[in-house]
Amino acid sequence: MSDSVATDRIFNFSAGPAVLPLAVLQEVQRDLLALPGAGASVLEISHRSKQFGEILEQAQRRIGELLNVPENYKIMFLQGGSRLQFSMVPMNLLRDQSGPAEYLVTGSWGKKALEQAHLEGTAKTTWDGKSTNYNRLPESSEIEIDPQAAYVYYTSNETIQGVQFATEPEVGDIPLVCDASSDFMSRPLPMDRYGLLYACAQKNAGPAGVTVVIIRDDLLERSQKNLPGYLNYREHVDNNSMYNTPPTFGVYVMGLVAKWLQEEVGGLQAMHERNQAKAAQLYAAIEASGGFYTGHAEPSARSLMNVTFRLPSDELTEAFVAAAAAENLGSLKGHRSVGGIRASIYNAMPEAGVETLVRFMQDFCAKHG
Ligand SMILES: *Cc1c(COP(=O)(O)O)cnc(C)c1O
Repeated sequence: MSDSVATDRIFNFSAGPAVLPLAVLQEVQRDLLALPGAGASVLEISHRSKQFGEILEQAQRRIGELLNVPENYKIMFLQGGSRLQFSMVPMNLLRDQSGPAEYLVTGSWGKKALEQAHLEGTAKTTWDGKSTNYNRLPESSEIEIDPQAAYVYYTSNETIQGVQFATEPEVGDIPLVCDASSDFMSRPLPMDRYGLLYACAQKNAGPAGVTVVIIRDDLLERSQKNLPGYLNYREHVDNNSMYNTPPTFGVYVMGLVAKWLQEEVGGLQAMHERNQAKAAQLYAAIEASGGFYTGHAEPSARSLMNVTFRLPSDELTEAFVAAAAAENLGSLKGHRSVGGIRASIYNAMPEAGVETLVRFMQDFCAKHG
């Protein structure tokens, strides 16, 4: 293991693809040329090999253990990113249902998902945070759901705006569908409250190229036979994620991330506490700046994963990003639709990265505030 390479690493605040645990990258590097027992790279072995079968089975098992996924759910690994799920969800769960799909639009990703659902069937905007530029979340009194609804869809963490649900919206017996792309495995979840939960890996759980879908068994009955094979959840479940060649490298790395969460971090409650502590430091720095920094999200909706804030001017924002980069604090520029700064502090962002950013923010404010 080359420590000189490891010390060249910056604190990477990229929103995605994003920082991965160093220990995971080191294990990938160590075993890349020859996976123990396989005599070849994980990149070179058949997805039907015994070695890869074990990798997939272990990744599924570890994710199931971390999230306490009940027996009557299936975990699958797909391609096409979360964007394909924007379409697969309504194709599988909305076609020929009597009621509409209900969408809680709390930011850019929910809005895009709703647009795709419109192509499949009746999808309602149950709530939309547009009027306040997606800086808050709905109160339960603002959510009115058709008792016949096919499902209720929401985005647990809006990566661009930096708003995150602390708990699941209340939907009674209606299947709850969640895009958990940017907070997957960041905290424990009551999985039995979900009908379907999915996440692309490249924010918080692995490299780009693999998307995890967790679905409750009874919902598989909705998938119609006339769907194209790849787009049918039932095909993927029946073939245990081997309907076609799965994204083998992505599944492998995701399994290592899950192992890191279990063995190094100590599970999702411990991870959640670390994430809370990291985010609290950044929000405190924003609040202590006397108005120099202003947070985008309302305090009750603040994300523990993507911390969004502004400076007094575009010039200062640019100067901030450039000066931060010079101090090895990378990828802090906010998304163009929100502006300002976005610090993505996923599971693998070390405490030291957040502490360094907080000190930088204090210094920058003292100089320019
Ligand atoms: C990044 C992201 C997406 C899009 O993911 P792709 O894999 O690029 O399709 C969707 N939803 C959320 C919440 C995201 O953060």
